[in-house]
Amino acid sequence: MSKLAISIKNLSKTYSGGIQALKSIDLTLKEGDFFALLGANGAGKTTVIGILTGLVTKTYGEVKVFGHDLDTELNEVKNSIGVVPQEFNFNIFEKVYDIVCRQGGYYGMDPHKAATRTEKVLKKLELWDKKDQKSIALSGGMKRRLMIARALVHDPKLLILDEPTAGVDVELRRGMWEYLKELNKNGTTILLTTHYLEEVEELCQYAAMIKEGEIVLNDTVKKLLNKLDQEVFVFETDKSLTSKAIQILNAKDRGDNVYEINTSPKNTLQDNIDIISKSKANIISIKPKGNRIENLFLSVISK
Ligand code: ATP
Repeated sequence: MSKLAISIKNLSKTYSGGIQALKSIDLTLKEGDFFALLGANGAGKTTVIGILTGLVTKTYGEVKVFGHDLDTELNEVKNSIGVVPQEFNFNIFEKVYDIVCRQGGYYGMDPHKAATRTEKVLKKLELWDKKDQKSIALSGGMKRRLMIARALVHDPKLLILDEPTAGVDVELRRGMWEYLKELNKNGTTILLTTHYLEEVEELCQYAAMIKEGEIVLNDTVKKLLNKLDQEVFVFETDKSLTSKAIQILNAKDRGDNVYEINTSPKNTLQDNIDIISKSKANIISIKPKGNRIENLFLSVISK
């Protein structure tokens, strides 16, 4: 049986103001998993991460990371986790190299080891040529990569990323995905939170959904996506669809050759593409309408 990277049992958190952010949740991640924690704003995701990384004190429950108990082996827990928070939180006037190397020191590495690891992670994240620049001079994507480099300097077995690609452009997101996939392939367990279903589909094998402090769904991503049985896609075509095609597709004509089309298991995205392909129009783009995680959330909650 594979070992557990994270084992959470009956975890509860009530903040001092009285907000019950977590209500007795159970969660397990096996070593090597790529796991997504989903949920609306304020659902409790960051609280889970805060507890795992020792920044937030739990009210009740048991948390183990690679078998180390958070209550009695906090240092072992901290050493096995690298965390990439939502917001940039480094000193913008510090040099890239120093930001990463200092973190190595923070984890108790001797200067030689910290230097060797810093060089390795900066090269891996394509930041080595920026090592002498102040971080303020980096682009947004480079800053994100710097956060990942810093989180990896002590070679953690578990990497936690809180919305790693929020506000990152499409190309950079792709690059980051490739890097995270490679990291996971080489054995790093990854837990991420995200608002993008595309990210979950692309990267993760498992996902749990949290709502108002409770886990409402915990399954393979494949099974989770099956629950998203109704979606609306926005198609743009190079010329207007005929009224017959619009009728067959049951499409909503938004004007300027833009159409909203509903999909379901009986009427899949591919079925709709096939119908349009048989008409005289060509498809220019297809985009999901709205946030798919929110749609999934709604279809799960409504069942
Ligand atoms: P987001 O996607 O917006 O980051 P989240 O799922 O990470 O949301 P949390 O940040 O864990 O949610 O918040 C869960 C609940 O706990 C919210 O109601 C939030 O207002 C509350 N909360 C979070 N941090 C604190 C705090 N330090 N003090 C009091 N309440 C807090």
